[in-house]
Amino acid sequence: MNLRNCARCGKMFNYIGGQPVCDACKKAIEEDFQKVKQYIVDNPRAGLKEIAEENGVTTKQIQQWIREERLMFTSDSPLQIQCENCGAQIQTGRYCAKCKASMANNLNNTFAKPQPAIQQPVKKEGKAGMRFLDT
Ligand SMILES: [Zn+2]
Ligand SMILES: [Zn+2]
Repeated sequence: MNLRNCARCGKMFNYIGGQPVCDACKKAIEEDFQKVKQYIVDNPRAGLKEIAEENGVTTKQIQQWIREERLMFTSDSPLQIQCENCGAQIQTGRYCAKCKASMANNLNNTFAKPQPAIQQPVKKEGKAGMRFLDT
């Protein structure tokens, strides 16, 4: 047994991996996700705040889905997601395909083990071979 407090509701639950949230919250988040996904299909030009308000989710949650590449936006969306490395406009995720490819090479060389998929602030300093632009 690996008991943890749910990151969403604070309840103790048996953690088995992935996001540190309980089953009930996992289900609720998944329902929110489907709702948001459909909303973006129906309203491709909606902004982040609008999507959050209309669906009762936080902008933070939406941004997490974007980083996880679960939400896609069309090129006429006002969301303007930019590659965190080179600033190119992308439709989902954090980096453009080009930067991802070069980073995959770097990651193989730099990190011994893969990072877990859960949300964690990434330390940007001190990694040789990775450059970040000041914006
Ligand atoms: Zn919970
Ligand atoms: Zn890029």
